Amino acid sequence: MIDKEMKRLHKATKAIHAGNLKKSIFGEVSVPIFQTSTFSFPSAEEGAERFSGESPGYIYTRMGNPTTNALEENLTALENGFAGVTTGTGMAAICTVFLTFLEKGSHIICTAAVYGPVRVALEKEFSRFGVESTFANTAKIDNIIDALQPNTSIIHVETPANPTMQITDIQSAADIAHKHGAILVVDNTFASPYLQRPFEYGADIVVHSLTKFINGHSDVVGGAIIAKDEKLYKRIRESLNLFGGTMDPHQAWLILRGVRTLALRVEKSQENALKLADYLKEHKNVTWVHYPGLEEHPQYAIAKKQMDGFGSMIAFGVKNGLNGGKTVMNNVQLFTLAVSLGGVESLIEHPASMTHASMPQKERGEAGISDELVRISVGCEDYEDLRDDLNRALDKI
Ligand code: PLP
Repeated sequence: MIDKEMKRLHKATKAIHAGNLKKSIFGEVSVPIFQTSTFSFPSAEEGAERFSGESPGYIYTRMGNPTTNALEENLTALENGFAGVTTGTGMAAICTVFLTFLEKGSHIICTAAVYGPVRVALEKEFSRFGVESTFANTAKIDNIIDALQPNTSIIHVETPANPTMQITDIQSAADIAHKHGAILVVDNTFASPYLQRPFEYGADIVVHSLTKFINGHSDVVGGAIIAKDEKLYKRIRESLNLFGGTMDPHQAWLILRGVRTLALRVEKSQENALKLADYLKEHKNVTWVHYPGLEEHPQYAIAKKQMDGFGSMIAFGVKNGLNGGKTVMNNVQLFTLAVSLGGVESLIEHPASMTHASMPQKERGEAGISDELVRISVGCEDYEDLRDDLNRALDKI
C-alpha cells in the first residue's frame, strides 16, 4: 500500500522516490539489500503475533522482505494500484496469477500474439488441470465477446502485444470482463507504467516482466503482480507464499536501481523509436512497419487514448521474407542479436525462429507473426548511429 503523499506525485518522481525506506538506519540514500532468509523475533509472543497478522514485522523472506517490499511499493505507486508482489521472473508472475484465479473447469481468453511461453503454459500445462483457453486477436474487441464462455474467469491481455504491436482497448476489455464476472489481467511489460497505467482503464491486475523496461539494463530477470484492491492483493500474496515464486532481495535491489531512471530511458528510447519508424517506412527493402506511434497503425487512436507515449518497440517486414530478415540480423553491428527488450542497448530479433518458435506455424500466422517480421527494441544510443546501422544491414538484402 502506498501513502497519499506519494499518490500525488508525478511519475518520474515516483520512480525515483517511491519505496525508499521511511526510516533509514545510517542515513543511507539507497535502499539496503536485506540479504537474509529469516528474521528474528524479540519474543515468542511477538513471533506468534507476526504469524497471526496482528503484528506487521517480517518473518521469512519467501513471505516478505524489506528490499523486495520497497520495490513492490515503488511499482504500486507507479501503477496507481493498491499493492503488489514481486516474483522471480515475469513468467512466474503470470503463472502465479493463473494458478490463483483459474481452477478445474474454468476458461481463459488470451491475446493471440501473447509472449510465446504464456501460450505454451496454458496449452500444455494448465490444460492438464482442466483449464480451457482461447486465443483471440483482442485488438478487435468483438473477438473477446465471441470467445466468452459461461466459465470464462480471466481475460488476459498483452498491449502493446508482442511482437505484432497490436493494441487492445483496455477500457472495453475491462467492461466486457466485469459484465461477465471475470477479471481483466493486463501485461504492461511493453509500455511500462511510465506510458500506460491499466488500472485507470478498469484493469483488475497488472503483470510485468521487470526484466524489460523497469529494470532497463539487461542484467537481471524479475516479475511483478500489482492488484487494484485489497481482496485481489490478499489472494495473490497468499498463493505466492505457497507456490513460492518469490523474488530475491539482491534481485529486487538491482531492479530498484534500474527503475530510478525509468523516465529518462523511456523518453530517450521512444524519441529514437519514432524517428526510426519514420525512417524504416521509407526504406526500399522494408515492406511494412508496425509502430503504434504511426498514424496509419490500425489502433493509433486507442494507443493515443490509453498511452502517454508509444514506446520503443517496432516490428517491420523486410523483402525476401525469412532470408531477408536473416540478412539484416547478420549484418547489424550496433544492434545486438538477442531476445528480450527494454534495455538501454538496442536489440534485434526474429520472432518466428526465436521467441515465438514454440508456436505452430499456423497459430503464428493467425497471430500475425509472419516469417519476414523483424522486431527491434530501440535503446538509448544516438539516433544517427542506430539509423546508419539498420540502413547498412537493410541495403545488404
Ligand atoms: N511478458 C512479456 C510481454 C514478455 O515480453 C516477456 C518476456 O520476454 C514475459 C512476459 C516473460 O518475462 P520473463 O522473461 O521475465 O519471465
